[in-house]
Amino acid sequence: MAYAIPLWTPPSLPVVGTTDLFPVRRIFCVGRNYVEHQKEMGGDGREAPFFFIKSAHSLVPQGGNVHYPAKTANYHYETEMVVALARGGRRIDPKKANDYVFGYGVGLDMTRRDLQQWGKDHGRPWDFGKDFDEAAPCSILAPASKIGHPSKGAIVLTVNGKERQKADLSDMIWSVPEQIAYLSEYYTLEPGDLIYSGTPAGVGPVKPGDELEARIDGVGELKVKIVPAL
Ligand code: MN
Repeated sequence: MAYAIPLWTPPSLPVVGTTDLFPVRRIFCVGRNYVEHQKEMGGDGREAPFFFIKSAHSLVPQGGNVHYPAKTANYHYETEMVVALARGGRRIDPKKANDYVFGYGVGLDMTRRDLQQWGKDHGRPWDFGKDFDEAAPCSILAPASKIGHPSKGAIVLTVNGKERQKADLSDMIWSVPEQIAYLSEYYTLEPGDLIYSGTPAGVGPVKPGDELEARIDGVGELKVKIVPAL
């Protein structure tokens, strides 16, 4: 059986210490998961987690040049730890959720903030604000078999050498196991799914020429340069 058009290669991420690639199926992202960021976005307290989705097509493996996207005048970074699932499941017990994780990476949840805000103001979906070309840069993955399951450690972003975001993974409102458990109540999670686990305070705009360096202690780093729109 042939395909009617040429089959594309699945988006994938390299893995530290091997030539194997990690194939990416879906990208789930949690909103407002650090206390100070939740405040800057207008929240108060520990609300239930909420999620949105980027298509795997938006992945930018290992960063590098990222084009300024179309139709925005307020293009933001959000630095996040990325969780890569090795196993799928539903109604996962948070106490066992780490068993489903393949590894971790450093990601940027790039956002057309003006289009996201328009969606919020008009009761419309966030997709145009969050799911677009090159919206999900992600570093090489560090396997949990090598680094364990990080629940503390600095998460930092610099833009052109100036620190813009800095927090600790322990500042997350919903832990990674809690996020996996919660998502698995709503979706059958699958091997290859990624979870962007939320961003600290300090989100802000970037423009062509800006150089972003994100790092998470014990996980890795990701470098992105914003280049002019296509
Ligand atoms: Mn985010």
